[in-house]
Amino acid sequence: MFTRYLRLPLLIGLSILAAIASIIFGVSRADALQVMLRPNNPKLGDTVSVWIASNAANNPPTVSIGRKQYPVFAMSPNRWRAFIPTTPLDKAGLKQVIVTGEGLQQTLKMPLSDRQFPTQRIWIDESGGGSEPTDYEWDKVSAFKKLVTPQKFWNGAFLRPNDGEITTVFGVQRYYNGVFADDYYHRGVDYGGEVGSTVVAPAAGYIRLVGTVGQGFRLHGNTIGLDHGQGVASIFLHLSKIYVKEGDFVKAGQAIGAVGATGAVTGAHLHWGLYVNGEAIDPVAWRYEAIE
Ligand SMILES: [Zn+2]
Repeated sequence: MFTRYLRLPLLIGLSILAAIASIIFGVSRADALQVMLRPNNPKLGDTVSVWIASNAANNPPTVSIGRKQYPVFAMSPNRWRAFIPTTPLDKAGLKQVIVTGEGLQQTLKMPLSDRQFPTQRIWIDESGGGSEPTDYEWDKVSAFKKLVTPQKFWNGAFLRPNDGEITTVFGVQRYYNGVFADDYYHRGVDYGGEVGSTVVAPAAGYIRLVGTVGQGFRLHGNTIGLDHGQGVASIFLHLSKIYVKEGDFVKAGQAIGAVGATGAVTGAHLHWGLYVNGEAIDPVAWRYEAIE
């Protein structure tokens, strides 16, 4: 009888005490650095988002695996995000993601699962040659893939860049003349659209690369590189037409070029590669899950 009347004031009293205690002693240290990985069961080709809540407003936390460090961006006050790209060339197994901030360190387990990719057997005449990039082409494309800019321009799920059917999926691996190509995988998705069919920007961003066959893009053909910001970038190859120039800002869905058969190709198609921190990752999740 007596305790029933006491319980509520007691609870209020306790929470006031707790509030006073937190003002005097500060938030508990364990709350100062919270980290979450998404997805928490990634497989080869996935992009892993590392979400961090930290009280250090102007001091970005760091994210690393072994000696490799990943760029971290402020998403809102006290909230940060990094992307860890994974590819078919990675070794499956348990990775340790180290996050530091506020003088604290957290180690998260990232179990990276194996995944079977389709394989192709290619027979080539070694004397042929001709599919090597020019130095100019190689330098331009490499510089583009290294871009990590601070602002985020994409919003929600990426659009399909062309209406054509997918003819080659991401991650296909190859045997050349019967020998497995260790460092090859199909670094994008091929759409078998007709020559001249429209290529649209799958997400907003700045055009940071335009290369043409005339300038020496003999492997990639007419090429567009689109920077979506924060280390996320699209590359479009083998185009017949290019409607944009370097420095242009494009919106999601905006026409940027047309499908072609330029560069080293056996037929007309669009190759769309999506890069995260310089690695070509599987764009499928980006198309359907709105990775932020
Ligand atoms: Zn391709």
